[in-house]
Amino acid sequence: MNLNIQDTFNKELPADPSLRNYRRQVEEACFSFVTPRIPTNPEVIHVSSEILHDVGLDDVDSISEDFKNIFSGAKIMEGSAPYAMCYAGHQFGHWAGQLGDGRAINLFEVVSKGKRWALQLKGAGETPYSRSADGLAVLRSSIREHLCSEAMYHLGVPTTRSLSLSLTGDEVMRDMMYDGNAAYEKGAVVCRVAPSFLRFGSYQIFMAREDKDTLKTLIDYTIKYYYPNIKGRSKEDYLKFFQEVTNKTLEMIIHWQRVGFVHGVMNTDNMSILGLTIDYGPYGWLEGYDPSWTPNTTDAQGKRYRYGNQPNMALWNLMQLANALYLLVEDVPALEEILKSFQKSYPKKYFDMMGAKLGFVTQGESDIKLIQELERVLQLTETDMTIFFRLLSNLDPSIMNKFSAMDIIKPSFYDPSELENDILISWHNWMHKYLERLNEYDANNSNRKSKMESVNPKYVLRNYMAQMAIDKADQGDYTLIDELYQLLKNPYAEQIESEKWFAKRPEWARNKVGCSMLSCSS
Ligand code: AMP
Ligand code: MG
Repeated sequence: MNLNIQDTFNKELPADPSLRNYRRQVEEACFSFVTPRIPTNPEVIHVSSEILHDVGLDDVDSISEDFKNIFSGAKIMEGSAPYAMCYAGHQFGHWAGQLGDGRAINLFEVVSKGKRWALQLKGAGETPYSRSADGLAVLRSSIREHLCSEAMYHLGVPTTRSLSLSLTGDEVMRDMMYDGNAAYEKGAVVCRVAPSFLRFGSYQIFMAREDKDTLKTLIDYTIKYYYPNIKGRSKEDYLKFFQEVTNKTLEMIIHWQRVGFVHGVMNTDNMSILGLTIDYGPYGWLEGYDPSWTPNTTDAQGKRYRYGNQPNMALWNLMQLANALYLLVEDVPALEEILKSFQKSYPKKYFDMMGAKLGFVTQGESDIKLIQELERVLQLTETDMTIFFRLLSNLDPSIMNKFSAMDIIKPSFYDPSELENDILISWHNWMHKYLERLNEYDANNSNRKSKMESVNPKYVLRNYMAQMAIDKADQGDYTLIDELYQLLKNPYAEQIESEKWFAKRPEWARNKVGCSMLSCSS
């Protein structure tokens, strides 16, 4: 197996001088060297071929002993020096101090086809940052991370990737619903891939410790490799850096809102400095359109990370990053100006995105009203977000009226019998205005249909679909993992043979654990 390893993080940044693997506070360092745990009986159960090729490997590599050993932690690649990253973070709005890679171990960086990638094992054992936990990951959460990372990539959402999913052959004890019913589950390791796994919390930790030197070293490193268009290292350059991080974060959130993705744990340690979706835990997909929905049972009370609050939480997290950068920049108004740019741009970008979902090429003031009215009617009765927007592209405003148009979108309602009285009137009113709007400005039908289909996915990783793959995998059958992976490679395409996945959540999944609600246990 030939990889073009070119480490920078563990060569250019300050290391924890201790090589012993015990829990501790690590100061004035960005990482600690650590060796992955050797799994008892590793077995690769799925590989993503796109990212395999991107990092410079081929299909033959993926079935080699070396691949299995290296990407399960059994063997260390020659010339590499694995490490866990040191970071802090705000969890659910509260400062949590040092967190760090408690179960992620970076293997190495490679440069392939002009791109730099960091490869990281998740679930490969204890690190100095494991705190009170075991450093391991279970099969169910690893399947969810592996499938969703790749699905998001193919949806065009900025994300970390997942190269491989392996069983370790070890058992891991988990109390899945935190209700005193702990049980053994199969252990697994995912190899995640991203240009970098740096998070907002990676910078916050040095602010908290008033360690300006290390903060500057880390920011300069980040700019050098990941924001290379910024040439200088002045206060203005650091502000430029913050503006770019802000822009990327905003773009990511717009994509989440577009596809109905709810991250579930938008803590600052889970916010990538590259604006990538990172750390797939108790995430979920909107089925019924409901801005107050959160998949995370730990968040059920305050619903801090609900779908409709994701933009606010991104901004809140950016404010914490601004606090960290303040140590170098020392200019509150300038940092605030950048945060304001998020507040200003978000609504515009959001309405543009929603307009595109509705097939509008141009966008006027009245469109905003139409979009807001749609957000309201979508909540009158449980309406499947993905199916609704996808079916909407089948409308032909030149021949349809509000009645025939409603027939087209009917399959998106969970209980169509609720479409009566005020609810039905509201829908008819909205549909009437929408058809009028299309006829007025954007009548070119075939063009509009294909444009709408390119932003409204037909297939997403519905919560119950991932759970079905997990239930089968628990019994040793991994076929559904690959079936879903293949399906979600083309989320915008019509896949006639896979029509069964273009369906509302089945009733059995409504309240099933793993399908509608998830804990942080992973
Ligand atoms: P998360 O909420 O998954 O982003 O995790 C928050 C923090 O807890 C991070 O520092 C993780 O590395 C750590 N963590 C989560 N699960 C484990 C585990 N099983 N063992 C060690 N650390 C963990
Ligand atoms: Mg995390």
